[in-house]
Amino acid sequence: MADAPISPRTKIVCTLGPASSNREMISALMDAGMNVARLNFSHGEHSTHAQNIAIIRELSREKNKPVAILQDLQGPKIRVGKLRGGSTTLTKGQQITLVFGLEQTDDNIPIDYRELASDTHVGAKILLDDGLLGMTVVGIRDSMVDCQVVHGGLLKSRKGVNFPDSNLSIPSTTEKDTRDLLFGVSQGVDYVALSFVRTAADVLKLKQMLRALGSDIPVVSKIEMLSAVENIEDICKVSDAIMVARGDLGVECGFANVSAYQKRIVRAARSHGKPVIVATQMLDSMIENHVPTKAEISDVANAVFDLADATMLSGESASGRHPSHVVNTMRDILSRVEESGMLLPGDENARIFTSTATPEVVARTAVELGDTCRASAIVCLTLTGNIARTVAKYRPQTPVIALSPRPDVVRKLSLVRGVVGLQNTMFFDTDGALHEIAKAIVKRGLAREGDLLVITGGIPLASMQPTNLIKLHRVSKEDVL
Ligand code: PGA
Ligand code: MN
Repeated sequence: MADAPISPRTKIVCTLGPASSNREMISALMDAGMNVARLNFSHGEHSTHAQNIAIIRELSREKNKPVAILQDLQGPKIRVGKLRGGSTTLTKGQQITLVFGLEQTDDNIPIDYRELASDTHVGAKILLDDGLLGMTVVGIRDSMVDCQVVHGGLLKSRKGVNFPDSNLSIPSTTEKDTRDLLFGVSQGVDYVALSFVRTAADVLKLKQMLRALGSDIPVVSKIEMLSAVENIEDICKVSDAIMVARGDLGVECGFANVSAYQKRIVRAARSHGKPVIVATQMLDSMIENHVPTKAEISDVANAVFDLADATMLSGESASGRHPSHVVNTMRDILSRVEESGMLLPGDENARIFTSTATPEVVARTAVELGDTCRASAIVCLTLTGNIARTVAKYRPQTPVIALSPRPDVVRKLSLVRGVVGLQNTMFFDTDGALHEIAKAIVKRGLAREGDLLVITGGIPLASMQPTNLIKLHRVSKEDVL
């Protein structure tokens, strides 16, 4: 194996926010191992997001490190309106009334959702502020919803509201999402995430909007509602990636279900060959503290054992005290678990892909060759990134290096487990290419003389053929020169 091991294989998604929206911190996050930057469109102005995008792109060029930008759309998130004085205390047993409104004008609590009264029913649960406060609907009068407080506490303006047992008619993308999407497309983001996906149709609608904008940005479906868990197979089919959005998932589906649902969602995504991100509260205590709790370490480890593509930081990197230190901690845990020898080899669930399409068979065979010959890398020559994703979905022990002439393809591969993307000029002549490839990889410290590379490509290279070739290449003296 080469000196520079490719570790960790699991990728790190960092949410940017007030604590990390500056050049110094973004640079530190990249050095610490951020692979994907998540811009949360539930917060922040377009101007701040635009600035962050410019900084990431610039640093990425300077450091020669690909970073994908993920735009996270707020979706149909319902919130409390602006409260008089900023907050109000709710006590157990208290009767309160919810009304549609953006600002509090009387004793009623404003909610920014017009169809509230027609979409809910007596006996329904309403949860506020990530489930910290709870109430039950006791009556509906015209557009007013009377509730009794079950779990009291301080309710602040603009906190999120969940209706776990109501069927909301709110559209899957809002006007704000459309505005944000236009912005994202014009900025050339690498992924768009959609919050509160309920069905495959929600994802298709977003894709339709993207097409109308002349864009084919891949879509990440955030699984955070019970209906999405129930429709997970269909959602995986039409999505480009999946996020286990455990924050809202816990509130919508019951906290005790989060762990088993995580396994189910990760397994579904992987069986469809779609990258999957495990998100929310992974190192939550590190928003304040210097060390994670043992429970958090185990939680991160569990995502590695699940062979997820990526783990995500939210408040830890967006508004915490030491964002880059948290990324270092995350990277350490990921590497330790991956190198522990405790990951199941040849995980059965990764080998159920049976397609007989040539690139698929080449990918399967390349994994077999790489792992049995203990190659230093499986090297994929790829125009679209497709073959690298296909190889990666088998979760090879062997690292995957993707060489693409397209910087956008290299960036997108930053989300995929075990894939190192390198931008390269396009190869036209097959014999010369093998030598050039090996040289480029040696130069990056990813292999050395005597190492074995499993190279996949589509020949003749100049005519941009789909993958049809596997070459076992021993790195020679000439490759090192
Ligand atoms: P959010 O999504 O941070 O946008 O709410 C993630 C989650 O719900 O876990
Ligand atoms: Mn959420």
